[in-house]
Amino acid sequence: MRQIDHFIVGGTGSAPARTHKVFDPNSGAVQAEVALGDAALLDRAVATAKQVQPGWAATNPQKRARVMFRFKELIEANMEDLARLLSSEHGKVIDDAKGDVQRGLEVIEYACGIPQVLKGEYTQGAGPGIDVYSMRQPLGIGAGITPFNFPAMIPMWMFGMAIAAGNAFILKPSERDPSVPVRLAELFLEAGAPEGLLQVVHGDKEMVDAILDHPDIAAVSFVGSSDIAHYVYERGVRAGKRVQAMGGAKNHGIVMPDADLDMVVGDLAGAAFGSAGERCMALPVVVPVGEDTAERLKAKLIPAINALRVGVSTDPEAHYGPVVTAEHKQRIEDWIATAEKEGGEIVIDGRGFTLQGHEDGFFVGPTLIDHVTPDMASYHNEIFGPVLQIVRAKDFEEALRLPSEHQYGNGVAIFTRSGHAAREFATRVNVGMVGVNVPIPVPVSYHSFGGWKRSGFGDTDQYGTEGLKFWTKLKKVTQRWPDGGGDGSNAFVIPTMG
Ligand code: NAD
Repeated sequence: MRQIDHFIVGGTGSAPARTHKVFDPNSGAVQAEVALGDAALLDRAVATAKQVQPGWAATNPQKRARVMFRFKELIEANMEDLARLLSSEHGKVIDDAKGDVQRGLEVIEYACGIPQVLKGEYTQGAGPGIDVYSMRQPLGIGAGITPFNFPAMIPMWMFGMAIAAGNAFILKPSERDPSVPVRLAELFLEAGAPEGLLQVVHGDKEMVDAILDHPDIAAVSFVGSSDIAHYVYERGVRAGKRVQAMGGAKNHGIVMPDADLDMVVGDLAGAAFGSAGERCMALPVVVPVGEDTAERLKAKLIPAINALRVGVSTDPEAHYGPVVTAEHKQRIEDWIATAEKEGGEIVIDGRGFTLQGHEDGFFVGPTLIDHVTPDMASYHNEIFGPVLQIVRAKDFEEALRLPSEHQYGNGVAIFTRSGHAAREFATRVNVGMVGVNVPIPVPVSYHSFGGWKRSGFGDTDQYGTEGLKFWTKLKKVTQRWPDGGGDGSNAFVIPTMG
C-alpha cells in the first residue's frame, strides 16, 4: 500500500498513529493511505517555519519572484504527471485536471509580479516637511486548509500569494486527495525555495483545530463546506487570527426568453455536469424565465444530457468521471430521492448508474429535475453532484430574487441578449461573482475570487489584490526631517494639516 506522508522538514520519523484511506474513484479500490497528523507534528512544522520566515521576508521581492518563475516552469514541465495524479485520486477527467493545475498556475504567474504589486504608496509634502508612505509587510506564518475538489488550484491560490508576500506557509490539504499538494511542495523546493518555507501537514478535524489554536499561526485561509467554514472562521478569529473562510454554493443560471438557447444548453451541460458537478462554481440550478422559455429549454436539455458520456477519468472521450468517494455518491443519490419525495419531477435519473467493467467505481449518472421550488430542501442545500435542477420563474424580478435570497451567494449567471437586463441583474443580484453569458465566472488571477452570504466568511477574497491584502499588513509611516531650526510645532494639540 502506498503511504502518503507529511512534507515537513526532518520527516515524520515513526509510523503515523492514524491514517486515512485514499481511494481510486474509478475502481472503488483503496490505492493509498495518508498519515493523519496531530498538534505535536504541527508544532514541529511551525518551529521550522518560524526559523525560515524572517530570512525569506528579508529577501528582496525580485529574488522571491524568481523562485515563483522557476516554480511556474516546473509546473509546466510536470503538467501531464500532475494532472494524472490529480485525476487518479479525485476522479475528474485529465483535461479538467489540467485546468485545475492551470488555474492555480495563473495565480503563481500573478505572484511573479510581486515586486510591482507590493510597492507602497507615497505622498511627498503631506504637511510642512512631512512625507507619508505605506508598506505591506508579511504576517509571519500563514496556513491553508483546502477542499478535495481543486487539490492543485486552491492550494496555489493561497500559498502563491502568501509566500510571494514574504510569509512561510503550512498547507493542510484534503485527506481525500492529498498527493498533488505534496507534489507541489516538492516542486516548490526544487524551484529554489528555502526548506521549510512551504510545508504540508495532513489531517482531519484534529489537525484543523491544532492550526486554529496555534499561537504562532497568524492567518488561516479555508475553503470547504459552509458549516465547517463557519466553524473555522469563528474558532480562528476567537484565537486572534486573521481568517478568510470560503464555503459551499448553489449557483443559479438565469435564462431570459431572448437567450441563445443552443449556447445556453452547451454551457449548462458543462457547468452543471463537468467534474461530476463537484465544483463550487458549478451551475446546478437553472432558472428559465417564463413557461415558454422553460419548455423550449427543457426540450433541448434532455437530448444534450442523455448524450453525456460518463467514463473513467482517463477516458479522453468522457465528459465527466466518478465522484470522489462512495459516501459522496450515496449522499448525491439521497438528495435525488429527497427531491423526488418533495415533488420534483425526475426527468433524467442518474441513480444506480454503473459503468461496465468498473462496477465498483463511484459513478453517478447525469440527473435532471424539473419543477423544483424554493421551499424544497433539495433546492436549499448543496448537492455537489451531476444534478441539474430547474426552478421556473414567471418574470425577471422573480428570477433575480431566487439567487439573491438563497443562503449561498457564490456565483450566478444570466443568459440574455439584452444589455439592459444583464446590467440590471449584475447591479442588483446579492451574489459575489456574476457571469453575463458566462456560465462559470471565476475571475482571472489579477482580479479576486470570493462569494457572499454563507459562501464566504470574513471580508477578504482569494488572490489578486484582495489576496495580497489578506496575507500582508499595512504599515503607514509619517516622517519629517527637520533642519534643526525648529518649525514651531507641538504635539499638545493634535497635529492637523490645516
Ligand atoms: P469539507 O468542508 O468536507 O473539507 C474541507 C477541509 O476541511 C478539508 O481540508 C477537511 O479535512 C477539513 N475538515 C473536514 N471536516 C472537518 C471538521 N469537522 N472540522 C474541521 N475541519 C474539517 O469540504 P470538501 O468536501 O473537501 O469540499 C467541497 C466543499 O467545498 C463544497 O461545499 C464546495 O462548495 C466547497 N468549495 C467552496 C469553494 C469556494 O471558493 N467557495 C471552492 C471549492 C470548494
